[in-house]
Amino acid sequence: MANEIRVRFAPSPTGYLHVGGLRTALYNYLYARKVGGTFILRIEDTDQTRYVEGAVENLLATMKLVGLQADEGPEAGGDYGPYYQSQRTELYRKYALELVEKGAAYYCFCSTEELDKMREEQQKDGYVTGYDGRCRNIPPAEAAARANAGEDHVIRLKTPDEGEVFFYDVVREKVTFDWNMVDDQVLIKSDGFPTYHLANVVDDHLMEISHVIRGEEWLSSVPKHLFLYEQLGWKPPKMAHLPLLLNPDKSKLSKRQGDVAVEDYLNKGFLAETLLNFIALLGWHAKGDQELFTLAELEKEFSLKRVTKSGAVFDIEKLRWMNGHYLKTMELDKIVTAARPFFTEVFGEIDENELRELVDYSRPRAATLKEMPGECKTFKEEIEYSEEDRAILQEAASQEMLAFWADKLSLQEHWDTEAVNKLLKKTSEKFGLKGKKLYFPLRLAMFGSVHGPELDKIIKLAGRERCIARLKAVSRET
Ligand code: GLU
Repeated sequence: MANEIRVRFAPSPTGYLHVGGLRTALYNYLYARKVGGTFILRIEDTDQTRYVEGAVENLLATMKLVGLQADEGPEAGGDYGPYYQSQRTELYRKYALELVEKGAAYYCFCSTEELDKMREEQQKDGYVTGYDGRCRNIPPAEAAARANAGEDHVIRLKTPDEGEVFFYDVVREKVTFDWNMVDDQVLIKSDGFPTYHLANVVDDHLMEISHVIRGEEWLSSVPKHLFLYEQLGWKPPKMAHLPLLLNPDKSKLSKRQGDVAVEDYLNKGFLAETLLNFIALLGWHAKGDQELFTLAELEKEFSLKRVTKSGAVFDIEKLRWMNGHYLKTMELDKIVTAARPFFTEVFGEIDENELRELVDYSRPRAATLKEMPGECKTFKEEIEYSEEDRAILQEAASQEMLAFWADKLSLQEHWDTEAVNKLLKKTSEKFGLKGKKLYFPLRLAMFGSVHGPELDKIIKLAGRERCIARLKAVSRET
């Protein structure tokens, strides 16, 4: 099993899935699919201070909504569980103590006040702030005795003081850090829980992760992690750090400039298919210039080699364009299902056949599912006419023709294209009208605008009854 590819998405549940998180999840998923590996979901929930009610459920639900299913994880199960770090705390403690035993970690008894004071002094003297290692010198036996006696403590990693550390990142190639920039990282906090760094390394090892694929913000943690692997006698996984996501002004993607939660985009009426396609291109490109991909195509096309180093701009206009494309081209059934809640929100309960018609009509006219009902308002709600519209409707010839149509529509229930064309021909002959004179008043009366769909389509979308009522209302208005 040693060469098996195993990758993981390891979110800390914060209450919502960030688009950057979705990108990390997607790239891990795609890489696993591409090489026939295993995609693991691990919940990194050891920070008790950041606990948010319902956050894990929300995360799992969002992953499901976008169609990224883990092969192993809290729901899928697997041989390497539990997949919640909060259920693995004993393990982390064991390895922290092993590190203390080996002299690679030490007990630290500094209080918060003492640490604050230290930081203040460092700032005042113009030094880089960071733990100065003052508890390193407590004799190990004395430190262990104090910890065992119940004195408040943390366990810190004893990172090298000087020299350089370098590693090869799949995306960033050779990366070098100075050890003197690396802090003596806390591994076990005073509440007994591990920090991200310890838990992450222990689990990546125990879960036999072959590649760590995650956001660039974690790059600076790699030296500590490599040191942990080395001290525990473990082989580190390969690393691939994904470029930052940026706002159009090249600042880091932030809540202040727009939405960052995946569910916000879903609620705004972007399709899961669009989001995956769009997000796949934030830091990766295909061999050619193809930009539109289904998930199945991405699974074949993806390669870590084509992940870029430079930051990727989150361009909302491109997202809208892409969503418009999917709305137009995806199977109608799928769009109807996705659009249903947006239509019922605006129009209340809606008949299935009517919904299909409205969705089919509005999908090429909107960029999001949410915009689609707006395109259909004219079929469902009262029409407001401008002065200009009224003038057209009130012409004598129009009036007669509209009354004639109201009568004719009342005579039979079904009006397909052929029937409507026949009626149009008859109308044209009877009233001597054609072109604008014929179509504009009819379309205005039944649809509210002189331009728009064919008349048979309008009758279908607005419904025959409503069309009759509308024709009668405007032909009586003189
Ligand atoms: N729990 C970390 C996060 O929330 C995981 C980082 C990593 O993948 O190592 O992003």
